[in-house]
Amino acid sequence: MGRRKSKRKPPPKKKNIEPLDQQFNCPFCNHEKSCEVKMDKSRNTAKVTCRVCLEDFQTSINFLSEPIDVYNDWVDACETAN
Ligand SMILES: [Zn+2]
Repeated sequence: MGRRKSKRKPPPKKKNIEPLDQQFNCPFCNHEKSCEVKMDKSRNTAKVTCRVCLEDFQTSINFLSEPIDVYNDWVDACETAN
């Protein structure tokens, strides 16, 4: 009997290509998804701006940085300031 157990291949992973600009909740006005992160990898800087309360924050990034890192930096900076 040469019947083999059929090996199930895992489904192919879908690669989510996320846009560079992402939106997060604002730590100042608490609006959802009001903060936009702009990554400027050629200058190693990133900027977060809230389009509701117009708070912004700029930080330096490296080639591994993700928008969420920039946002986390901002939240950290807010907590330090408070
Ligand atoms: Zn805001």
